[in-house]
Amino acid sequence: MSRFDGRVAIITGGASGIGRATAVRFAGEGGSVVVADIQDELAAQVAAEIGAAGGHARAFHLDVTSESGWAGVVAFALEEFGRLDVLVNNAGIGDNQSIEDTSVETYTKVVAVTQTSVFLGEKAAAAALKASGNGAVVNVSSMFGIVGGFGTSPAYAAAKGAVRTLTKNTALGWATQGIRVNSVHPGFIDTPILGDTDRKLLTDTTPMARLGRPEDVAAVILFAASDDAAFMTGSELVVDGGYTA
Ligand code: NAD
Repeated sequence: MSRFDGRVAIITGGASGIGRATAVRFAGEGGSVVVADIQDELAAQVAAEIGAAGGHARAFHLDVTSESGWAGVVAFALEEFGRLDVLVNNAGIGDNQSIEDTSVETYTKVVAVTQTSVFLGEKAAAAALKASGNGAVVNVSSMFGIVGGFGTSPAYAAAKGAVRTLTKNTALGWATQGIRVNSVHPGFIDTPILGDTDRKLLTDTTPMARLGRPEDVAAVILFAASDDAAFMTGSELVVDGGYTA
């Protein structure tokens, strides 16, 4: 018996980085997963890789800013796998601009993809997660949803901070309705989102003196999604190599 046998997850941003590692491990522990992303080719590759290893996965084109897209992905999970137990709101984007240089368009886009997506996802999945009777939502915020984020953009920090409190708000709203909601706050993790940022600088500012691996975060996301965390809701799990300590 594996930890996620019979359970079904939607993982946004599942084509790359932290989402990909989470999808691969969830499926490796017996779950069925919808790899939801705007990068269709990469999402299909992840689903194929999981299938080749004997797991169950389907790719789905989802733009997390689209309310109709969210209705579509929840319907797809129910059609393909018959239920929905876990939602991992992981997709996000950042930018590197100061407040003076941030246009309203950039601010609005970062908030839409990183923050409003969590609202849309929770709203769209609510009925199916309640029907599961053992639902879990894990919202991927950031250590910059806890501290201000020296050198990080205001849009990203504001969006990730809102993900933290939205998590707590929905956790309380659903506390007796069979859905737990927790947030995970990664530090610097070596994924494509870092772009050409100087990895040495990020390593040097991390007390553990290394970047995190996507698998380091996936392990914590899946703990929060699992029955090992059955009495945990509205909590924030920090995975940052000591950065915010
Ligand atoms: P990544 O760039 O490897 O993955 C992000 C994924 O989100 C990509 O597959 C991308 O296609 C997808 N995505 C972007 N916009 C989307 C949209 N509109 N609809 C659907 N999918 C979309 O980066 P990652 O590091 O794996 O990021 C995952 C999450 O972790 C993000 O929310 C990010 O903010 C957060 N995070 C990352 C770090 C880090 O250092 N890597 C630190 C803290 C938090």
